[in-house]
Amino acid sequence: MSEVKKFQTETARLLDLMINSIYTNQEIFMRELISNASDAIDKYHYLSLTSDNLPRRNDYEIHLVPNKDQRTLTITDNGIGMTYDELNDNLGVIAKSGSLEFLKKMEEEKAQGKENIEIIGQFGVGFYSAFMVSKKVVVETKSPLSEKAYEFSSTGQETYEIKEIDKTTTGTSITLYLKDNTEDNNYDKYLEEYMIRSLIKKYSDYIRYPITMYVTREEPKYDEKGQIVEGEYESIRTLETLNSMIPIWKRNKNEIKDEELHNFYMQKFYDYQPPLFHLMFTIEGDINYNALLFIPKVAPYDLNTINYERGLQLYTKGVFIMDKCKDLIPDYLRFVKGLVDSSDLSLNISREMLQQNKVLGKMAKNIEKKIISKLETLMKDDYDLYLEFFKLYGTHLKYGAYENFGARQEQLQDLLVFSSVNNEKPISFDTYVKNMKEGQKSIYYISASTIEEVQTMPQMDVYKKHGFDVLVLTEEIDEFALKQLRKYKDFEFKSINQVSTDELLEKEELEKLETIKEEKKDFLQALKYALDGLVKDVVISKRLTDSPVCLVSGDGISFEMEKVLGKLHKDSDIKADRILEINPNHELFKAIEKVYETNKDDLKDYAMLLYNQSLLMEGFKIENPVAFSDLMVKMMVRSVK
Ligand code: ADP
Repeated sequence: MSEVKKFQTETARLLDLMINSIYTNQEIFMRELISNASDAIDKYHYLSLTSDNLPRRNDYEIHLVPNKDQRTLTITDNGIGMTYDELNDNLGVIAKSGSLEFLKKMEEEKAQGKENIEIIGQFGVGFYSAFMVSKKVVVETKSPLSEKAYEFSSTGQETYEIKEIDKTTTGTSITLYLKDNTEDNNYDKYLEEYMIRSLIKKYSDYIRYPITMYVTREEPKYDEKGQIVEGEYESIRTLETLNSMIPIWKRNKNEIKDEELHNFYMQKFYDYQPPLFHLMFTIEGDINYNALLFIPKVAPYDLNTINYERGLQLYTKGVFIMDKCKDLIPDYLRFVKGLVDSSDLSLNISREMLQQNKVLGKMAKNIEKKIISKLETLMKDDYDLYLEFFKLYGTHLKYGAYENFGARQEQLQDLLVFSSVNNEKPISFDTYVKNMKEGQKSIYYISASTIEEVQTMPQMDVYKKHGFDVLVLTEEIDEFALKQLRKYKDFEFKSINQVSTDELLEKEELEKLETIKEEKKDFLQALKYALDGLVKDVVISKRLTDSPVCLVSGDGISFEMEKVLGKLHKDSDIKADRILEINPNHELFKAIEKVYETNKDDLKDYAMLLYNQSLLMEGFKIENPVAFSDLMVKMMVRSVK
């Protein structure tokens, strides 16, 4: 039996990229193939512990054979192997979901003159990296779940061939037929002992199964009496293990260099940059485990998509159980990568049972606490690094603070930072409160895209006058969130667009404004009438000092929320109340009042102009731009008559 099949289009494109356009860092093919071999052994081991049909074994091994005569490198493992279907699905016809994304990412990077082939593993297409250095790849494999063994072979050109073979041992053997050497590229180096050794040391040292290879060593020659023969040596071939096999998380924290941790992270979690920071801790007592956690410096490309799978790798007594155990980490910390190794879980625990496992639940709570306290420390000790972190993952923390209640919420809300008009760097609620001016009773905020935008808002007049700080909320969820939190310590959150400003004014000032309100009652009423159906009210402003008008919303939903809801539901008719505030001390007020007194018929035109102007300042669209522009023309013409 032998059949030739076509690669799925995206896979073919991916292979083409591997073969024809990547020349830097080709050596990572070794890491990818060793990592696959190690995963395959993990899977075998796990299965042998959880099912009765598979023999348990203790001779796990990844074996390398470089063959200089044939220019081949073979990587053999005695792991789980692949059935006929798996071979097709994993290496052949089925397009891997990551293929297209990887292609896109590589194209983007190439356009920027970069070439981060190292990230390939992140996309689940690492196997294909073999084609960077091979003109042909042959995979021989036997799964314990299948009677028969199969061979997959391909030159990476559109098709691959699958046939049945005689192979009785369980596992997989991958043979790379190295590309021909070119002037720039010597592929023979991958057959050299020193090269293989150094690649294993660099990328795969921590792999927990022995990576073995026959090496030739020159040893001193002994004569019959057991004496060394001076100057003579003999070549001895011995099987050597190339990796140290000690998992890094089991080593003494103080003896590990940051560089080692970073390398480990980059290899294990497919990043091309060291992490932003890491946490390593051992818990002993009620429950026992080691944890090694990393915060990536660049957020995973799919972090905010539903395809993203959060979770930590789970080991028990050094044995790998599962890759992304999501029960170990709450959703709002989904960006954390790392692993946990516990001695309290039984080896043959099933995945379903894991979910209800009490030990796991305790570990998860504990891990969450550790991360929060690490963030608290960071905030105190290295604020700039914390801000860098928050820029990347702050949104997630915000969700965490909003979704949780009680003690957790209090802790999380202290980790939030926001931009503010009085500060160069974002600040926490705590800092805001500490810097409050005498007599200030609330925490003020406004939604906007930049601080500069806020600075020019008419609503800011009164806050500027008092020197009160105002938080600038730049994310859509922020305002909903503050509404949900309601207050911080004893201070309510108040939008400068909604709140009554009475608490900001001196008693006399307030009384003066009340009097004006009384006196101008009819005028205001007339304006309101002129804007019938457009505004809920027209009032004397208590917040404007320099600007003529502003539009504020009532106590219910705010303009920002209206905009967000409008984006979410195209035909949402939920609208914030519009209240037009005018500044009685402004020239414009007096001018329009004059119109009201002398020429009532024109009042509507002025009112419309004012209203539309305030809409624009609030970032709304003018409801009828043509009418508005006609009106402007009419007024301009009138003003020079
Ligand atoms: P990933 O390993 O990230 O899933 P790869 O392209 O490296 O992506 O491998 C694809 C799949 O092929 C693996 O998920 C695994 O199921 C299978 N595979 C690869 N190498 C081996 C191997 N040595 N033994 C068994 N299965 C393997």
